[in-house]
Amino acid sequence: MQNRLRAWTGLLLCLTAGCAGPTGDRTPSERAITLLPPPAPATPETVPTPMPAANLPTWQSLSQWTAARGWEAPRPSATVPVVTYRLVTGPHQWEFHAGSPVAYWNGIQIRLGFAPQWLEGDLWLHGLDLAKHIEPLQQPLRLSLQQPPRIVLDPGHGGSNTGTRSVVTGQWEKEYTLDWALRLSSLLTARGWAVTLTRSNDVDIPLTARVAIADAADADVFLSLHFNGAAGTNHAGGLETYCLTPVGMPSGIRREFEDDPQLVHPNNAFDEASFQLAVRLHRALLEHTGLADRGVRRARFMTVLQGQRRPAVLLEGGYLTHPEDARRIADPAFRQRLAEAVASALP
Ligand SMILES: [Zn+2]
Repeated sequence: MQNRLRAWTGLLLCLTAGCAGPTGDRTPSERAITLLPPPAPATPETVPTPMPAANLPTWQSLSQWTAARGWEAPRPSATVPVVTYRLVTGPHQWEFHAGSPVAYWNGIQIRLGFAPQWLEGDLWLHGLDLAKHIEPLQQPLRLSLQQPPRIVLDPGHGGSNTGTRSVVTGQWEKEYTLDWALRLSSLLTARGWAVTLTRSNDVDIPLTARVAIADAADADVFLSLHFNGAAGTNHAGGLETYCLTPVGMPSGIRREFEDDPQLVHPNNAFDEASFQLAVRLHRALLEHTGLADRGVRRARFMTVLQGQRRPAVLLEGGYLTHPEDARRIADPAFRQRLAEAVASALP
């Protein structure tokens, strides 16, 4: 019996699409990972995500996977409305829902690449989710920092590239992202970070130039700061945090771009550290702002992330098209909390 009531729906037309164009080498995947036996075939409608390429790891029994690590077995915690499993890994706790890529790590929403499948009384997770989502959160943050540590802050948009518009104040995303970055820059400078901004005034910087600025600064970390927007009658609100999609995994958001899972970008060398950092940042933003949790997500099309040779994360600090989010973003004290949240999540 398959349950997938929590289907993955409602991918939004975030207006940061305007700041992210497709680039990248179409080099084939260099990964050669041992094939593991797949679960028994499910009916087509129970497999909502595409199957991976043949040379990538495939589905694994969660109970067998945890047993091989000497971890406590996952326990079913609910069967209605969906089959739910709880996995305790030391101090951390995961919650998985059969048929839905929406999982929770210590209560924080994480969008898996593949919806877990419930078959023959066991929950099956995709090997890429185990390797790229579950394993990294068991490990210490893998940031390699110079002395002093170097960070590039990227206030999204600028100049004629306005980003989305606040439904409350009529101000543009580009204004709020710059304000957030300047506040954050002050906090991090005071803590000993060497901070470089991709822009410090109202100019439009090409996306590839933003990557080049991070290279020139020899940055240890890259953070792109944005606010979100939803089209039409979509009234979404809350925080979203993005890092680059690992090779072989489908993206949670694609916009109008082709999502070729075989593409390898330079930033894929930092998959684990980017995701660890994204979760830390997302957790801190949730705690400091109280905005709704819309999850740590994966996107492949974001040019400012693709070419980064360092851990890189893109933050969406609320929706300017959501009246309550927009009202809060208009408040300088709230934007200070956004800056404090990010600073608190960095070492
Ligand atoms: Zn944006």
